[in-house]
Amino acid sequence: MNEIHLYDSLSNQKKKFEPIDPNNIRIYACGPTVYNYAHIGNARMAIVFDTFARLFRYKYSNVTYVSNITDIDDKIIDAANELHVPINELTKKYTDIYNEDMSNLNVLPPDIQPKATEYVDEMIKFIEILIEKDKAYEKNGHVFFHVPSYQGYGKLSNREIDQQLAGSRVQVSEIKKSKEDFVLWKPSTKDQPGWESPWGIGRPGWHTECCVMSEVNLKIPFDIHGGGQDLLFPHHENEIAQSCASINSDNPEEYAKYWIHNGFVTINGEKMSKSLNNIILLNDLLKEHDGETIRLALLSSHYRKSLDWNDNLIKQSKVLLDKVYDLLDTSDGNPDGEIDKSITENLLNDLDTPKVLTSINQLIKNKSSSNTSSIKRSLMFAGTILGVFNKNPSEWNKQIAKTDFEVEKIEKLIEERAILKSKRDFEGADAIRDSLSANGIELVDTEDGTSWKSKK
Ligand SMILES: [Zn+2]
Repeated sequence: MNEIHLYDSLSNQKKKFEPIDPNNIRIYACGPTVYNYAHIGNARMAIVFDTFARLFRYKYSNVTYVSNITDIDDKIIDAANELHVPINELTKKYTDIYNEDMSNLNVLPPDIQPKATEYVDEMIKFIEILIEKDKAYEKNGHVFFHVPSYQGYGKLSNREIDQQLAGSRVQVSEIKKSKEDFVLWKPSTKDQPGWESPWGIGRPGWHTECCVMSEVNLKIPFDIHGGGQDLLFPHHENEIAQSCASINSDNPEEYAKYWIHNGFVTINGEKMSKSLNNIILLNDLLKEHDGETIRLALLSSHYRKSLDWNDNLIKQSKVLLDKVYDLLDTSDGNPDGEIDKSITENLLNDLDTPKVLTSINQLIKNKSSSNTSSIKRSLMFAGTILGVFNKNPSEWNKQIAKTDFEVEKIEKLIEERAILKSKRDFEGADAIRDSLSANGIELVDTEDGTSWKSKK
C-alpha cells in the first residue's frame, strides 16, 4: 500500500484518498469551544487530526490544516456570567490554556486557527444567501434553516428527517416551521454578546460558524472534514445542509470530499460525564505524566474506536517509550537502512496506530547488533508521523518519578563514587551504586565516565 486509505463516514467505507488538488491538501477539523480546561476527549481529537496532518505532509508537499476555536456559544456566555468575567477574557484564557496543553502533547499548531468571532460579517453574508435561496427564514430575530427545503439532508448520519431531533443546541420552539429546522442566527439580549445584523442584534449558530470558517480558509470543496464522533449529528449534518444549499447542491462531497470521525474516550469503562464526575482534564494529567506518554497512550487504540483511559494504559505507554528511548540511546548503529514496511503500510492504512505500535514492539524484540541502525531509522520515522520519540534519549532516560532522588543529588553521588574508585575503594563505590539502585537509579559506566538512568 503506497497511498493513503481512509475510512470515510459519508460513504461508510474505506477508500483510497484521491486529492482534489494534489498541490494543496486541505483539511478542516472542528476545534474546541473554549470556556473550560481541555479534557482528554479534546486531546484525542487534536492528536488524531495532528497525526493525520503529519501523515499527509509525509505524502504531499503542501497541506493546509485548519482547526477552529469556537469562542461564541451559549455555554461560554453561561460560564462568563457565572464567573462574572467578560466573555473575551474567558475565551482568551481558555484558548491560551488549550494551545499550551496541546503544545505539551506535541500537537503542532494548525496552519490556520480561525476564531468564530472574527468571521461574523462573513457569517451574516452566508445566512443572507440561504434566505435568498429560500433555504432559511427569519422569525422574531431568529434565522432558521428550513430542513425540508434541502433534499440531501441526512446523507452523512443516514437518518430520515422524521427520526431527527432538533439540534441539541437549539431549543425546540413554536416559531419554527418544522421541528427539525435549526438556528443560524439568534437574538442577543443587552447583557449577551451581539453583532448588528439585518435581523437585529444577535449572534451566529454553531453550525454556521464552521461552514464559514472552513469555506473562507479552504474554499469548497475541500478534501477532508473531521471531528469527534459526537459531532457527526447534528453538527456536521447541519454544516453540509447549509454549505450545500448555499451552492444549490445536494451532494455533500461538494462541501467536503471525505469525512473522518474519531471515537470517544471512556474512563475505566464508563462514559466521561459531569454527572459521573470522571472528566479528566489535561491540565491535571500533565502534572502527573509527560505529554509524550499521554500522546502515545491516546494513539494506542485505532482512532475510530472508543479508547478506554485507565492506569494500565498510561503504564504501557511509558514502558514502550522507555524501550524505544533505551534503544535510541545506544551509540552503535546510527539511523540508517530500510524503514520497516509494516510501519509505513499501517500508517497509510487508515492510520492504524495499534498495528504500528505492535510493529514497533516487534522490532525492538528482534533487535540484534546487525539491525540496530535500521530499527532506529524505522522508529524515528514512525515517531515523526505519530509525534513521539523526538526527545533526546539520554534526557528521557533521566526522567525520574518525583518521589525519587533529585538530579543534583544523583550527580553528586556519582562524583563521590568516582573519587572512591580512583582511591581504589571499590566497596565504598559499590555501596553508592547499590543505594542508588535501591532508589530506582541505574548507573552506566562507559569510557567517557558514568551516566545514569531511571530504572523501569
Ligand atoms: Zn464544527
